[in-house]
Amino acid sequence: APTSPAYKRILLKLSGEALMGDDAYGINRGTIMRMADEILDVVRLEVELAIVIGGGNIFRGIAPGAQGMDRATADYMGMMATIMNALALQDALKHRGLDARVQSALNIEQVVEPYIRPKALRYLEEGKVVIFAAGTGNPFFTTDTAAALRGAEVGAELVLKATRVDGVYSADPNKDPNATRYSRISFDEAINRRLEIMDATAFALCRDQKLPIKVFSINKPGALARVIMGADEGTLVHV
Ligand code: UDP
Repeated sequence: APTSPAYKRILLKLSGEALMGDDAYGINRGTIMRMADEILDVVRLEVELAIVIGGGNIFRGIAPGAQGMDRATADYMGMMATIMNALALQDALKHRGLDARVQSALNIEQVVEPYIRPKALRYLEEGKVVIFAAGTGNPFFTTDTAAALRGAEVGAELVLKATRVDGVYSADPNKDPNATRYSRISFDEAINRRLEIMDATAFALCRDQKLPIKVFSINKPGALARVIMGADEGTLVHV
């Protein structure tokens, strides 16, 4: 097994659901502390880590009330949900002795500092975890797209997409017993086989920027650190 990390700087996309545990919505304390432990293991490897956090866990809770709402307005609510998750994750990391900074694509200056690229780069160089909140700051986008965008902006070598399934499969592994996991797949092959890896905007951005994506399961203990060590776990989408 390799003894040093395969990457120097990575961008981790955590969906809001990764903080939810088995709850119906919201933030589960045990789950978020486990995420903090997984992240701590990565920081110990001296890998520079930027995180984009989603908001599905909170927005799902209010979505029934948002039915029939104007899409852009609902999207701004979704972005604000990601800010709540970012603050919760920063707090969880602090409990583990980690210095994390939150930067938001929407200005709420009393609460979080705004996204300023050179500052984010400096934090990363200083070994601080940077959590990017509020997605891209624009409605009609997703936090997957924010992950591709911020990943490209900070010069990450890899976008790590944490999911509940441990990679990309030839078919839905929950429905098809013959489904096999791709260890590696190119962007073009993924398009030809119509595999949904990230939303189309995010996927196109990564492909244009030659930014590889690794899909892995955040629910497998230690998977995050193993992937960063270059283990054959999950699926690598390469150029
Ligand atoms: N969102 C948005 N623009 C962005 C990122 C997110 O409008 O750049 C909104 C959108 O409504 C989305 C919600 O925020 O549904 C939460 O983000 P996402 O669904 O990507 O979170 P996840 O599913 O990863 O938890």
